[in-house]
Amino acid sequence: MSNSISKVPVAVNEPVNSYAPGTPQREALISQYKAMYNQEPIDVPMYIGSEKVTTNDKRRMAPPHDHKKTLGHFNYGTADHVHQAIDAAMAARSEWANLPWEHRAAIFLRAADLLAGPYRNKMNAATMLAQSKNVFQAEIDAACELIDFLRFNVQYMSEIYREQPGNQPGIWNRLEYRPLEGFIFAVTPFNFTAIAANLCAAPAMMGNVVVWKPAESQMYSAQVIMELFQAAGLPDGVINMITVDGPVAGDVIFKHKDLAGLHFTGSTGVFRHLWKEIGNNIEKYRSYPRIVGETGGKDFVVAHPSAAPAEVATAISRGAFEFQGQKCSAASRAYIPQSLWAETKKILVEQVNSFKMGSTEDPSNFVNAVIDERAFDKIAGYIDYIKEQNDAEIICGGNYDKSVGYFIEPTVVVTTNPKFRTMCEEIFGPVVTLYVYPDAEFEATLDLVDQTSEYALTGSIISKDRYAINLAMKKLENAAGNFYINDKPTGAVVGQQPFGGARGSGTNDKAGAAMNLMRWVSARTIKETFIPPTDYRYPFLG
Ligand code: NAD
Repeated sequence: MSNSISKVPVAVNEPVNSYAPGTPQREALISQYKAMYNQEPIDVPMYIGSEKVTTNDKRRMAPPHDHKKTLGHFNYGTADHVHQAIDAAMAARSEWANLPWEHRAAIFLRAADLLAGPYRNKMNAATMLAQSKNVFQAEIDAACELIDFLRFNVQYMSEIYREQPGNQPGIWNRLEYRPLEGFIFAVTPFNFTAIAANLCAAPAMMGNVVVWKPAESQMYSAQVIMELFQAAGLPDGVINMITVDGPVAGDVIFKHKDLAGLHFTGSTGVFRHLWKEIGNNIEKYRSYPRIVGETGGKDFVVAHPSAAPAEVATAISRGAFEFQGQKCSAASRAYIPQSLWAETKKILVEQVNSFKMGSTEDPSNFVNAVIDERAFDKIAGYIDYIKEQNDAEIICGGNYDKSVGYFIEPTVVVTTNPKFRTMCEEIFGPVVTLYVYPDAEFEATLDLVDQTSEYALTGSIISKDRYAINLAMKKLENAAGNFYINDKPTGAVVGQQPFGGARGSGTNDKAGAAMNLMRWVSARTIKETFIPPTDYRYPFLG
C-alpha cells in the first residue's frame, strides 16, 4: 500500500549521439551492426502471455539494402494465436489494472534507461539492418524518440492523474482514470521503431492490456522491443505480440466483445477499412472502442518570394529524402515562386546529386534502400508514369535498381500542372514534385496547397515576410496538424512538437502527448457527501 503522492522525474529529451567519425559511439554501433549481420540467423517468436510461440510457418527477414542476406525468420501464426493473445491479455488485465500506477511508471522509466544504455546499440542496429535506416535516422527514431515517448508519457500520466475537479463545502469530488474495460489492439507500421513500441506502451502505461500486431518488415526490431519490455519487468500478458496476416487478426479481434480500443498507425486506406470493421460490429462490444489512428500524408513546403533559395532547397532535400522519403511527414510536394526557381533548382540539384546511396553499414550513405520489393515496385511504377507524361519532368534521379537492394535514386520532379498525380497522391518513397508558381499568385497558391490533397499531416512555409507567414498560417489552418515556419516539415520531437494530422491523415490524437494518453482511460467521477441530508424537503417548499 502506497501512502504517498509521488512526483515522477521531470522528463528531458534524450541527447542525440552524432556518430561523427572518430567517436566511440560510432565504432560501437557499427561493430554491433556487423555482429548482428554475421550471427546465425535469428528466430523471432510470437509473445503470448508467458509463452514464446514458434510455428512451422517461417517468414524470412532480410536487409532491404542487401536482400539476398537472410537475417533470420519470424513465426507466422493463425487465428488460434489471435484468440490465445486476447485470452492472455484478458487474463493479465485485472492484476495489471490494479497495480499502483507508480509501478507501471517505474517499469517504463526503467525501459527508457535500459534503452538509453545497454539496449541502445542493439535497437539501433536492428533498425539499421532490417528497416534500412542510417545511423542518424536509427538514433533519432529507435533510441531517442522511443526513450522520449517513455519518459514524457510517464510525466503526462502523472499530470492526468493530478487533474481533479473542484469541491463545494461538505462535498469531495474526485476523478479516477480507469483503464478501458477490455483490451487494446495496436497495429503498427514499418517505418518507425519508436511508433511501434509507443502504440503498445502508451495504453499499457495507463493500465491497459494490449494485443500488438507489428508490420512484417519491422519484425527484427519488434523483437528487441519485446526483449526491452521484458527486461524492464513488464509482466507477462500485458503486451502480447502476434505475427499474423492483418485480415486474419482483424477477423477475430473486431468481432470480440472485449475490444476496447484500436491504436493504429499506417496508411489511410487500411485505417478506413479497420474503422468500418469496428462500425459494422458495434453491437458486439461491451463499450464503444476508442479509435486512434495516425495515417498518410502529402506534406508540403511552400516558399514565399522573400525566402532564401538555400533554405528552401535544404528544407526540400532533407525533408523529402531522409529515410528515403518513407516518413509520414516527408515533404513530397513543394511550391516555389518563379523568381527563386533558378537559384533554388541549382542548389537543390547540387545537394541531391551529392547524396551517397548504399548500405546502412557505411555511415557516409545519406540514402539507403526502400523497405521491400512491394514498395520498390510501387515507387518505380510512379517514376515510370512520370516519365511518360508531358506535363512533368524529372530534373534529378529517376533511376532504380533492385538487384542487390531496393535502391531508388532520390528523384526531383517539376510539373506545370499543380494537380499532377504526384502532387496529390502519397507515394511513400524518395520522390518530390515541385510546382513553380508566378510570384504574384502567392495567396492563390496557398488555396491550391490547401485543396490539392486529401491529407493534412505536415507542411511548412519558408519566408522572411511576416505578413506572408501570417497569411499562410491562416489559409493553411486545416491543411496540416504539424505546421512549420522556416523549417522542413519532418523531425517532430516528443515533448516539443506533439505529432498528428487531421483530414485523411488521422484522428490527430497527438502521439507523445497527454491528449493521446487520455484516449486510453475512462474517467470515473466520484462525489462524496460528508453529511447526507435526512429530509427530502427543500427550503423553497416552505
Ligand atoms: P500499412 O497501412 O500498409 O500497414 C500498417 C499496419 O496495418 C501493418 O501492421 C499492416 O500489417 C497492418 N494491416 C494492413 N492491412 C490490415 C488489415 N486488413 N487488418 C489489420 N491490419 C492490417 O502501412 P505501412 O506501409 O506499414 O506504413 C506506411 C504508412 O503509414 C504511410 O501511409 C504513412 O504515411 C503512415 N504513417 C503515418 C504516421 C503518422 O503519424 N501519421 C506515422 C508513420 C507512418
